[in-house]
Amino acid sequence: MNVSTADIHYVLAPQPRPALPVKGSPKFFPVHRIYCVGRNYAEHAKEMGHDPSREPPFFFQKNADSLVMDGETFPYPPRSKDVHHEIELVVALGSGGRDIAVKDALAHVYGYAVGLDMTRRDLQGEAKKLGRPWEVGKAFEAAAPCAAIGRAGDIGHPAKGAISLAVNGATRQQGDLAEMIWSVPEIIAQLSGLFELRAGDLIYTGTPAGVGPVQRGDKLHGVIAGVGELKVTVG
Ligand code: MN
Repeated sequence: MNVSTADIHYVLAPQPRPALPVKGSPKFFPVHRIYCVGRNYAEHAKEMGHDPSREPPFFFQKNADSLVMDGETFPYPPRSKDVHHEIELVVALGSGGRDIAVKDALAHVYGYAVGLDMTRRDLQGEAKKLGRPWEVGKAFEAAAPCAAIGRAGDIGHPAKGAISLAVNGATRQQGDLAEMIWSVPEIIAQLSGLFELRAGDLIYTGTPAGVGPVQRGDKLHGVIAGVGELKVTVG
């Protein structure tokens, strides 16, 4: 049951609603779900040992309460010795629906942000090998750092532009949004055929090549031209 009334009484204090700041606004963007696209840049698909041909996109999810704000610390998670950074363009939906057409998709976008799809690569690799789900690799606490959202009304709908991640000042990942195998409208169209999208959903749109491990104390600095930047310290 989804209760929307304010006057209901709970047996426990409910967890706080996840939210992100919005650039140029004192108000926050309430986050509903976090969807992620796998292998959406050809060079990254190749570095992970896959065929970069245009197979239908595939999706996984993270938990909305795993967001880490810009300037905060990403706590190194337990049970892994190989935690990777994946810099990604994040799409924030202002409205949702089912079976959204490609041509209508951008009308549902509220804005964009710079995000990190943090990954316990060793646990993900084990899950892949055994045909098990990816949650232990992808959906752990703090696995979804994300900067403030830039409103599409202010920054437009970026379809090209440099996307990069530096670790301690050295560039590790570099690409261009134009290299996405599936574009943002195509992703929204495909995803809305599988799930009913809602206002407040975030979509992490995949990472360019150069993913690699982080260490405690590392300073991660992601930049997407025309969108913004994200700074996170590994704790
Ligand atoms: Mn990713």
